[in-house]
Amino acid sequence: MDLATREANELLLKGKEALESAGNMKREAAEITNPTTESHVDSLLKGQTHTGEHVLQIIREAIDTKKSGAKVERVRKARNQKVILKCSTKEDMEAIQNKMRSRKEIKVEAAKAANPLLIMKGVMAYHKDADIIENVLAQNKHLVKDINLKEVTIRVRYRKRARNQLQCHPVLELSPSVHKRFLEAGKLYIDLQKVAVYDQSPLVQCAKCLGFGHTKAVCGEKTATCSYCADKTHEWEKCPRRKQNEEPKCKNCWENGIKTEANHEAFSNKCKVRQKWDEIARSRIAYC
Ligand SMILES: [Zn+2]
Ligand SMILES: [Zn+2]
Ligand SMILES: [Zn+2]
Repeated sequence: MDLATREANELLLKGKEALESAGNMKREAAEITNPTTESHVDSLLKGQTHTGEHVLQIIREAIDTKKSGAKVERVRKARNQKVILKCSTKEDMEAIQNKMRSRKEIKVEAAKAANPLLIMKGVMAYHKDADIIENVLAQNKHLVKDINLKEVTIRVRYRKRARNQLQCHPVLELSPSVHKRFLEAGKLYIDLQKVAVYDQSPLVQCAKCLGFGHTKAVCGEKTATCSYCADKTHEWEKCPRRKQNEEPKCKNCWENGIKTEANHEAFSNKCKVRQKWDEIARSRIAYC
């Protein structure tokens, strides 16, 4: 093995270990790589305190694994008494869904892939969400002439703050066909502006602990971590290392053993850990 190959292998191994130790990323990845093999099971017994545990019991009885030999890979409880089942193959899932459909008290449906997101840069902040949608549809009709807009999803999912306080960056959730057209156009008319649009990752990164998959509103950490230098005694605004132009240090790369490549901020696109999470988050999305 020559030196270059060995170095490449070492790098791969390092990356792999880092990713495996990044929380429960591996488990998460397995869960969502193929949304078509997941089922959502909802309780329809209204007016009763029907917990996820009850729903699980109903599922057990309906599937009757001992008799049917049905193969479930994993089951997990979600919010609102919802239970999510994962099978290895589509066939397994369909067989199990059919069994459960006989039970009137639960609703079974295939887990859907999520819609893609699009960010509009620098839209005047005084627009209401409804106005943004109305304008986008009315002023950019030429891009979606052949698409039946009555059948598509288009809504403002949230807004990102812009440096200019009079502006914001609305993030739109769109049906894949519309998302593709808007992205190809690169710019959209909105009121008296023409603004640049980009694909927006569905990845959520916590502004407090810099972890992935949750926001700071539900973060379990007590103290915030500096996204510039990974220190816990201050935040980005007051970072002394940033002010002295020292190299940044990414908390996620540092803690996951990618120390030689941790010289970026925690929200940077260069971050290897972030890139991996981004890939996982995007695997849930239906792009066309
Ligand atoms: Zn957090
Ligand atoms: Zn700092
Ligand atoms: Zn990093």
